[in-house]
Amino acid sequence: MLHYQPKHDLLSNKTLLVTGAGDGIGREAALSYARFGASLILVGRTKHKLELVNQEIKSLTGKTADIYVLDLLTATNKQCLELANNINKNHTCLNGVLHNAGLLGVIAPITEQPSDLWHDVMQVNVNATFMLTQALLPLLLNAPHASLVFTSSGVGKKGRADWGAYSVSKFATEGLMQVLSDEYKNSNLRVNCINPGGTRTTMRASAFPQEDAMKLKTPADIMPIYLYVMSDDSICKTGISFDAQPDRKPGTAE
Ligand code: NDP
Repeated sequence: MLHYQPKHDLLSNKTLLVTGAGDGIGREAALSYARFGASLILVGRTKHKLELVNQEIKSLTGKTADIYVLDLLTATNKQCLELANNINKNHTCLNGVLHNAGLLGVIAPITEQPSDLWHDVMQVNVNATFMLTQALLPLLLNAPHASLVFTSSGVGKKGRADWGAYSVSKFATEGLMQVLSDEYKNSNLRVNCINPGGTRTTMRASAFPQEDAMKLKTPADIMPIYLYVMSDDSICKTGISFDAQPDRKPGTAE
């Protein structure tokens, strides 16, 4: 999939929402989607980072994105519904959502996972993602074809010592994807996960402070699968957990 060759207008006429769009993989996905013609809705917790991404989108494409500041740690059902209502007012439909925002928590054995942080990781990675999905589903179901994408991890498919709340939250993410994919199997909506694999970002650096980050793929390197899942080329694919770097051994810098 790293060799996927998208057409230059792959995503024209599509409106796509990306969470955690201010940094790391989410930032790169938002820029890539804009480059391939999509209109963007940027969701994140740090306003100035979203504004910087918006400026880049404007200079790349001439179009501006919509920005919504939403902290997933404290997000309520009401806020998620307000976000959905605003999108409904400003766009004819919503063609795709990339749930990318994520919290790492602490790398430590289960006996040493602070319970407050455990709850925070579950809140951001699972509960808020569920609430936002519930609010946005009616908009996705209104589009001719729609793509709902969650972000998983290698430790969301095979547990690994010390990955605690993060690992458990990513198993839950895979579960949410599978349940939704089955519920909507006879609809216009496809539901999939992407596991980015080790990628050069702030989150990766805090999980692996000792490794040589230059050996890792960059967010830009892994964009082909992110483009594919949002494009009409993937219309028949649902219930799949895609690996952005299928040949990579999890937990290593190679
Ligand atoms: P980064 O830490 O670089 O970026 C995470 C993004 O999520 C940031 O934009 C951050 O916002 C946002 N975010 C964090 N907490 C919240 C919150 N409470 N509310 C709203 N937004 C929030 O991480 P990556 O780009 O590396 O990770 C992106 C996704 O990929 C995550 O789901 C991660 O679990 C997953 N992943 C990453 C891997 C990697 O090697 N990088 C490997 C496997 C999975 P802000 O910038 O404001 O802090």
